[in-house]
Amino acid sequence: MSFKTNFQNVKGTKDILPEESIRWRKAEDIIRKKMMQYNFREIRFPTFESTELFRKSTGESTDIVKKEMFTFEDMGGRSLTLKPEGTPSVVRMFLQHGLFNKGVLQKFYYIERMFRQEKPQKGRYREFRQFGAEVIGSASAEIDAELVKSALDVFEDLNIEGIKLNINSIGCPVCRKDFIRKLKSFLKEKLPDLCEDCNRRYSENPMRILDCKKDKEKIKNAPFPLDFLCDDCKEHFEKFKSYLDYLGIKFNIDSGLVRGLDYYTKTVFEFVHPGLGSQNEVGGGGRYDELIGFMGGGDTPASGYAVGIDRLMLLLPEEEEKYDLDFYLVAFDSESGLLGWKILNELRDKGYSCDKDTMNRSIKAQFREADRQNAKWVIIIGEDERDKGVIQLKNMDKGEQKEVPMDIEKIIGEL
Ligand code: AMP
Repeated sequence: MSFKTNFQNVKGTKDILPEESIRWRKAEDIIRKKMMQYNFREIRFPTFESTELFRKSTGESTDIVKKEMFTFEDMGGRSLTLKPEGTPSVVRMFLQHGLFNKGVLQKFYYIERMFRQEKPQKGRYREFRQFGAEVIGSASAEIDAELVKSALDVFEDLNIEGIKLNINSIGCPVCRKDFIRKLKSFLKEKLPDLCEDCNRRYSENPMRILDCKKDKEKIKNAPFPLDFLCDDCKEHFEKFKSYLDYLGIKFNIDSGLVRGLDYYTKTVFEFVHPGLGSQNEVGGGGRYDELIGFMGGGDTPASGYAVGIDRLMLLLPEEEEKYDLDFYLVAFDSESGLLGWKILNELRDKGYSCDKDTMNRSIKAQFREADRQNAKWVIIIGEDERDKGVIQLKNMDKGEQKEVPMDIEKIIGEL
């Protein structure tokens, strides 16, 4: 038999096959456990939102909104977009459901798929998964440090080594004004030399030029936000660093780090791993004290991050994963098959995983299947067993076989 198809998964998407799924499930379990230890509450949000939400909150000048969104019209002519990042949906949910009434401080986490039309390559996909944590309601630098620590704890529990933390502060709208003026005058004469994106950013969001990978060398002497922080932002950044020190977290100050999104204020940070090559960013985040007010809520400080799970998976130590099964039934005839089926279902009720042949395969083929499925025990039933009211229970590891009464408690008692 040959299986062929002309269909392939769409470029930039990924199939996760059963054995690989085990690794994903384990990683997701570790993430959930850690998020709960930090008292983040899980939220899940829709795959698509109104396009306007991302335009407004991610920001018109960002690469995501400019060139990466999967946007389509529904039959009613409404413009919808597959979510490219989580924060806009989190903020929308927070405001729409009046979650501010549930307490001044709200801590959320999510594990969600995101969609961006980027050029696919290793570590960069068009559909990918992120986990993220967001804390709404606190302006404290302690929260920023706590967020960083929660992500680092996940990396540690996943046994991923070598992830580095870069931090910076990009100030607030007050101190940014002065900085942007200085930055623009520095950049003005360099513009003809800079890339097309930087030229566009110059008028839309000049700070983002500091983020440009292509022009990094040309702008290395540019003024940086850190040199323009107001007293409040300076103090916030000092506290953030002192909390990281207190928690024993090593960091590097990257004064060119500004992050891609429009809504960040004060603290920004990213996690990078050199082993990932050009897509070396594992995750990142920062404070967005202005966004909720901008989205129509009251003045509410907030902070959060997102980590790409697909990139984490590339960093996970290789381990061979196998499915296994508690019981496989080998039946000599159809009547024994039916009787065994009942026993399997009783065992399933007790929490065991069980399976059986459904294709009238030979005894040899049934044993082969039990092997292929890594069954721990095989239950063998034939005419003799039926007559005597017993089963043969074979321990596949030891190769030992014994006769056991056809009684669920007795079978379990023999394991
Ligand atoms: P961002 O939302 O852009 O701050 O990204 C946060 C994290 O999501 C990044 O550090 C990556 O790990 C991951 N990520 C972003 N874009 C992609 C992509 N196209 N494919 C895979 N992972 C991505």
